Amino acid sequence: MSVKDNINNIRGQIPARCKLIAVSKTHSIETIKEAYDSGQRVFGENKVQELTPKYEALPKDIEWHMIGHMQSNKVKYIAPFIHLIHSVDSLSLLKEIDKHARKNNRTISCLLQVHIAEEETKFGFSEAEIFQAFNDGAFKPLTNVKVTGLMGMATFTDDKDQVRKEFSSLRQLFEKLKVSEMPSNVVMEELSMGMSGDYDIAIEEGSTMVRVGSAIFGERSYAAQK
Ligand SMILES: *Cc1c(COP(=O)(O)O)cnc(C)c1O
Repeated sequence: MSVKDNINNIRGQIPARCKLIAVSKTHSIETIKEAYDSGQRVFGENKVQELTPKYEALPKDIEWHMIGHMQSNKVKYIAPFIHLIHSVDSLSLLKEIDKHARKNNRTISCLLQVHIAEEETKFGFSEAEIFQAFNDGAFKPLTNVKVTGLMGMATFTDDKDQVRKEFSSLRQLFEKLKVSEMPSNVVMEELSMGMSGDYDIAIEEGSTMVRVGSAIFGERSYAAQK
């Protein structure tokens, strides 16, 4: 199966309301170009140092999404062009994004990453932290970011019930926030959940954005990345 076949195949499986983010991390410019030539315009990367040269080398009508954990000192490199940052896992990172968005005369769309998995290592806000930040007025001064929804990653497990439970909990928080009093720069429109192994479940649980890498591009070789 070619990249093009894989993309068409996945497109056939996801509803129109759901956006396909092609996760191109570790893959070459040539491989991304193949996906581009089959009509894909939305790509996700998880490292700033990989994203920036790809942005520079590839056509400018690509919508770039940052999906990986970010250090605050890297925000400045992507602030001029990034379309959506899925992986905002702390208030301090959101503040830094706001600062660099302002410098670039932009408003940057962001998703709050919520910790839904069992694993300790996954980054993200808890439900309590989000409500706390709302109550504290912490989002109010951030005039150059717009929070458009939530992102979550399920536990890496074969237990489909577990994965479904975690996606469902994110969906419930999404619905709960929708009917809560939120700061004016927050709306609940996007629910980014689902990867190659679990996007089918995520869609059933209400995902509006699936982040699919290996099911499009094949297995990643991290050795080749260096
Ligand atoms: C790598 C990555 C994906 C895609 O993973 P696949 O299993 O290859 O589809 C999705 N989301 C995030 C945050 C990732 O880092």
